[in-house]
Amino acid sequence: MKQILLISFYVFNVLCNLRFKDKEQLERHHSHPEVVDEFLTVHVIPHSHDDVGWLKTVEQYFYGLRNDYQWANVEYVIDSYIEELQRDQSRKFIQVETKFFKMWWDQQNETTRGITRELVQNRQLQFISGGWCMNDEATTYYEDIIDQMTLGHKFLKDTFNYVPNIGWQIDPFGHQNSQAALSYQMGFNAWFFARIDYEDKEARLDKKNMEMIMLPPAEGVQYPIFTHIQYYHYEAPPTFNFDILRRSDAIVDNMKSESYNIKERSEQLVSYFKSQSLHYKSNHLIHTFGSDFCWSNSKVFYQNLDKLIKYINVTPEYNMKLQYSTPEEYIAEINKQNIKFETKQDDFFPYSDEPHAFWTGYFTSRVAIKGYVKRLGRQAQTYKKLIALLYQQEFVQEDYQNITNAIYELDNALAICQHHDAVTGTEKQHVNDDYIKILYKGEQHIQKLTRKILSKFLYNTTTIDYEQCEYNITSQQCTKTYSALKANKTVILTIVDGKVKQENNTDIIRIKVPNLKLLIKDQNNQVIYGDIDCTNGFQDCDLYFKYQIDKNNVIKYFTIQPVLYNESASEILLSVNPFPYTEDTLITLNSTKSFKLKYAYYQSYQQRDQADGAYIFRPSNNSKIMYGNISYTAIGYGRIMSLFRIVRTYTKSVVKNFYHQKETFDIQTYVDQIPVSDSIGKNIIMVIEVPNFNSNKTFYTDSNGLQFQKRIVDYRPQYNYSMHENVSGNYYPVTSAIYIQDGQECVGLLNDRSQGGSSLENGQIEIMIQRRLLQDDSRGVGEALKETDEKGNGLVQNIQHKLTFFNIQNNPNQIRKLQYYLDLQPLVFFNFDSKLPLIPEGLNWFLPFDGFNIEPLLIYGDNLLKFNYLLWNEDEILLRIQNMQEKFSMKIDKLEFVGQAVRTTLTGNQKWNDWKNNSLKWNYDKQVNSLDEDIDDVLYPLQIQTYLIRNSEKSYQQ
Ligand SMILES: [Zn+2]
Repeated sequence: MKQILLISFYVFNVLCNLRFKDKEQLERHHSHPEVVDEFLTVHVIPHSHDDVGWLKTVEQYFYGLRNDYQWANVEYVIDSYIEELQRDQSRKFIQVETKFFKMWWDQQNETTRGITRELVQNRQLQFISGGWCMNDEATTYYEDIIDQMTLGHKFLKDTFNYVPNIGWQIDPFGHQNSQAALSYQMGFNAWFFARIDYEDKEARLDKKNMEMIMLPPAEGVQYPIFTHIQYYHYEAPPTFNFDILRRSDAIVDNMKSESYNIKERSEQLVSYFKSQSLHYKSNHLIHTFGSDFCWSNSKVFYQNLDKLIKYINVTPEYNMKLQYSTPEEYIAEINKQNIKFETKQDDFFPYSDEPHAFWTGYFTSRVAIKGYVKRLGRQAQTYKKLIALLYQQEFVQEDYQNITNAIYELDNALAICQHHDAVTGTEKQHVNDDYIKILYKGEQHIQKLTRKILSKFLYNTTTIDYEQCEYNITSQQCTKTYSALKANKTVILTIVDGKVKQENNTDIIRIKVPNLKLLIKDQNNQVIYGDIDCTNGFQDCDLYFKYQIDKNNVIKYFTIQPVLYNESASEILLSVNPFPYTEDTLITLNSTKSFKLKYAYYQSYQQRDQADGAYIFRPSNNSKIMYGNISYTAIGYGRIMSLFRIVRTYTKSVVKNFYHQKETFDIQTYVDQIPVSDSIGKNIIMVIEVPNFNSNKTFYTDSNGLQFQKRIVDYRPQYNYSMHENVSGNYYPVTSAIYIQDGQECVGLLNDRSQGGSSLENGQIEIMIQRRLLQDDSRGVGEALKETDEKGNGLVQNIQHKLTFFNIQNNPNQIRKLQYYLDLQPLVFFNFDSKLPLIPEGLNWFLPFDGFNIEPLLIYGDNLLKFNYLLWNEDEILLRIQNMQEKFSMKIDKLEFVGQAVRTTLTGNQKWNDWKNNSLKWNYDKQVNSLDEDIDDVLYPLQIQTYLIRNSEKSYQQ
């Protein structure tokens, strides 16, 4: 037994060291001569980095189960530091992941809660970031980031009246500038992180540029934020991690002992900090003491640090003071010194920690959870919005507890999955399975509740049995609709549409139906025309029909009924005919534009020196190999669309071109299991080729669904980049879209989940759609990325893209418009009762309360306004409005009218004006861009404003 235990300790230490590779870099820099005369103050930051799932599930980490995977239990970490903080008021601790803190809080008695409140009150315990988890930055969508932060911030506000003011992103594998801008808007004075490209870090260490002001470009207002890059990852200085797992030698201050070592050990630490100070501008330094899941025995850690702090502080020749501190206290000191910092506008992608180790594989790893998180995240906005809107109904108010439980479960599930080892696909398989289970439960709960409310609202009874389509990994399944139609029943389809102010625009509904003649009518009894597309010998059929978006109706319904053979139907079965096609055939359909659609793969590099894996994308060579042979192609024309079908050995694609948007193509790819019988892992890509298109080695990718970033092949704007990987070193996260440009003409590709993408050749966009690998990449997960289904077969997925051609001068909002429509796809409910629902007169997104109409305050034309509600408490709703246009500001009237609304930070935990007035101001070159004033009555492109609103009986004190 002992031997096994020793091995697992050894493995754990190796794991921790594998996750970061700063050591060598640090050693090189320690060869600098120590010429520091200044008196230094060192801020000692006790912290534990607690992943919300990685090698173990959330619960396993919290309770300390499955310690054979990793010795870690967060419950004891919190117990332990709470105990030790009480012994000495100078001790500090920072708590980061609010998910774990809430789990702990929920099981404490009043005495412990009282003690904790006191520790928070006297600021010994500070909440840093305060998000539910530490979200990933490459594969997460901005709305999901804001929501996960909001969930944590609301808990801290409600429980401790605490408002976090520092961002803490110490582990994510690269950093977006949208995260920087959002951090400011969430009320953060600064943010901290560790992982930047090793060459970038080298240059920054040399030039004392480890701290800067990030100033992400934006149309309109820019949000500057102080940015700190950690010196030595998020570790303690080498040999000074006194956690029981890390086995650093204890400090012996007993002079009578032969083991007396405090002098020597203090000198080592002092020397380390002097070296560190050569790379930062101020005489205040900050350093973390802790690491993954450390401090479960805080007594040991604090006692050793207590000794060192005391000894160093009373030894004048060290010229140094160490103090327990927090990032907030450090930032306050730096701010006082009025140092002028450089600005940075671009982001920190891609990240490599070694020449052949680009962390660009996780942009695509585990496509199923990425798809689920994105779909549910989008739908969550409409669920929450609908529930908040219907909250003015008395019967809904009576159900307050159930409603908040369901919303909490949904928010909790989505928030957990934003973690940097969840949606990233860098967790172990059993942890991934647990995340899927949590998402599924959250989804089931909110669906059940919404169906109940809808039934009561539309039929004044709870006996109407609404159904929704289930999703599985390959397609949208609607077994019950299918069988009802087959049994000759009429289906009433109720849709909830979150789009506002989209008059004269149409959207498409798609549902599974049997191969029958159908008659579709809208709620005004008008016949609707559509197309049915059948595959698999007419077994699998999809009905597509168009509907008109109507701002005055949140809810619309349609009836679908089977018709007899000789009656006229409103749909037509698409006639699809074989069509000769080769890999070089241009797809045009009804468009004036055309492109080639190819699938290829990169073979995995499988040697142990640095294998291709869940985090890292490393092809064995840079050539793309064609993936599968074409076996069948066909073309079809219907009433509302035309389509192209291509069957290859390992993929089946359908390209649809709707007549109302001819310059846009919907591409659906069914990706069969990736064959690995040749013992070679594969990274599958979809390639779009546009002939005669000079994109000039430049492409643009979105940042968490927000601002586009310019990318140039083999180039980094801020440091000299040595090319070691021509393909993977040019991969960037594509959270919602990638585009290329030739003059004013653009070709854009939008996806249905986060993926990695690039444009390595003129007129080409490549996007990685699936991976199946056979090796681990030595960054700690310890498993090869080879997802399988229950039967052990490789994972199968259906993946959707939209390809669009546009002129950026004439139509700068084209990608945003598609993004808006994708985000706000309607929720679809079915029932099979022949009784029609009551027409929901006057249910309008702009009317959250009786007599409280927001619409006249929003002065704009027919454009892309995102409008979200969240039930905040029994009296308040959180309102977010966003201008989804790429260009063009939106004029809004002041929303803070008659005391019914107050503008807040993004997470709703403080008034926006308070934040603006109290935030720290920094010294930097403000000439970089002209800054527009952030004023309440303008919504700049992509800007989000947040308000708390109340109905008129309960106004705010202004
Ligand atoms: Zn982590």
